[in-house]
Amino acid sequence: MTLDPKIRPNHLRRAAVVYVRQSTLHQVRGNRESGERQYALVGRAKALGWPAAAVQTIDEDQGRSGARAEQRQGFKKLLAEIGAGQVGLVLALEASRLARSSLDWHRLVEICVVTDTLLADETAVYNPRDPNDRLLLGVKGTLSEAELFTLRCRLHEGRWNKAKRGELANSLPVGYVRTEAGAVVKEPDRQVQARLSYVFERFAELRIARRVLLHLLEEKLTVPTKVWGGPRHGTIRWKVPTSSDIMRLLHNPIYAGAYVYGQKEYDPFDRSPSNGKAKTKARPVAEWPVCLRDVYPAYLSWDQFTSNQQILHDNWFRHGSRGAPRNGRALLQGIVRCGRCGSRMAVFTYSTKEKRAPGYGCVAAYQNGAAATCQMMSSAPVDAAVTELFLAAVTPAQLDIALHALDQYETEQAEAQRQRQMQVEGAEYEVEIARRRYEATDPANRLVAAELESQWEQALRHRDQLRREADECERRTDQTLGAADRARVRQLAGDLATVWHAPTTEMADRKALLRFLVHRVYLDGVTEAGQIRITVEWHTGARTSVTVPRPAVGAHAPKTPERAVERIRALCPGHDYATIAGILNREGLKTAKGLSFDQFSVRYVVRSRGWNRGESTLREAEV
Ligand SMILES: [Zn+2]
Repeated sequence: MTLDPKIRPNHLRRAAVVYVRQSTLHQVRGNRESGERQYALVGRAKALGWPAAAVQTIDEDQGRSGARAEQRQGFKKLLAEIGAGQVGLVLALEASRLARSSLDWHRLVEICVVTDTLLADETAVYNPRDPNDRLLLGVKGTLSEAELFTLRCRLHEGRWNKAKRGELANSLPVGYVRTEAGAVVKEPDRQVQARLSYVFERFAELRIARRVLLHLLEEKLTVPTKVWGGPRHGTIRWKVPTSSDIMRLLHNPIYAGAYVYGQKEYDPFDRSPSNGKAKTKARPVAEWPVCLRDVYPAYLSWDQFTSNQQILHDNWFRHGSRGAPRNGRALLQGIVRCGRCGSRMAVFTYSTKEKRAPGYGCVAAYQNGAAATCQMMSSAPVDAAVTELFLAAVTPAQLDIALHALDQYETEQAEAQRQRQMQVEGAEYEVEIARRRYEATDPANRLVAAELESQWEQALRHRDQLRREADECERRTDQTLGAADRARVRQLAGDLATVWHAPTTEMADRKALLRFLVHRVYLDGVTEAGQIRITVEWHTGARTSVTVPRPAVGAHAPKTPERAVERIRALCPGHDYATIAGILNREGLKTAKGLSFDQFSVRYVVRSRGWNRGESTLREAEV
């Protein structure tokens, strides 16, 4: 029934001992984590098949700094028990490392051999009678790679263990302070408390973050924030709110009293080529790996919080501000800037049913409370013009030059790689020499053997480090070289325009190609009436400008029938959207797409015409 074939009935008949070891008091205090993990080995003993009653913990050495066994009562007790044949399994953290590093553990392993006692750590069970396992416990356990690995595991698991207990110190947002005793309490400044509660209450009422923001701006209400860094670090600063201030408050589960860890998922295999950071993805509330409720004093209830997340999520998608980033139809996604204010422009997509080209919009100011967006336009004429400029710029001769440069780069990289490989081979040779020297010594001559062993280990470590570096460089080279891009470009060199327009060419490919030459594109659809001025900034720094006529707003979109529009205008003051929709439907009126009205389609008509519903003082300028 046990999982490990090394464990036999005669082991299970005896006890399993968890040996908790930590050398200094300082470590006990500073590194409780490791202690926790050591005690977790009790669970492992049970998992390996020992009944709970047969698992004992020897931890009398906690906080004892003595390096010698005579001073450590626990260790002595352990040896005595093993010697008496009472123990079937000894569990300790990183048994292999301990077995190598200390004389005590050499003794322990020897006794284990005599009494047929197994050793185990978090990852493996070792039978000291088995030559392979002894090797593992001895030399192999010292390989730097393994050491690094365990170190990393220790850090990583340590964090998670701490987080699971809610003890991983998180930085507290505004509204909370940590007392000297370490407890977290609400910010004693009542004004801060009151303003935060006010924001949550307004959101419960208005249900749109932007409206909360507008409300605060209108009422000239500031919000508290915490200063990060600098001499005033940690103090409260009152400021005019921005949308991100509001979003931060609404999204942070701590305000609902919860301790959360792992809200974001990191993908270590998908790193940004520019800064090497792993890409992150927010996990939905239900999938947060650590979520402890009622840990902190709350500003809103948990139910309120989860409902807020749902509302925010829905709003976000209704506004369509995100869309599919990679396969989206907007060619300039990610490289388009506002030609008026320089802000990054967002891509607005519509449902696929509408067959409308996505739009480019400069909405940064709007999100921060301005009455209207800076500018919005359809992507169709812009993308067409940029494509034309791009295809004209990329002549076969230019592509040849680009590819030639890449080839040269590749040759250099190959040479560097060869050099690294030679270094590794050299290190390999050193390891071999060290190994032979070690094996040639008389084991009786312990001091010499130990010295040679350590030289051997050093050589191994050096070689492994070089190998790792070489691997790392190769991986990086692969990324920067963009082998796939290059192959694609070469393929395209023949007839770029044909391939560009081919239905089989993916939008993502076009974007990649475009970014090969284009750094940014600036759009200005306001300065010249009825025109969009497009300025392409090439990677070389040169700029090319072109002006295209701007299609009338919604020129290609189906229109809401005039009769319905008139009814909505008449009903608008004094009725809410849902009521208006009901009236229109009873009167048999249809939307632009020939569907029944609902509150959203009514709202769209009202807002797109800038009408005021009368009962609200809020500016309703959403597009
Ligand atoms: Zn702008």
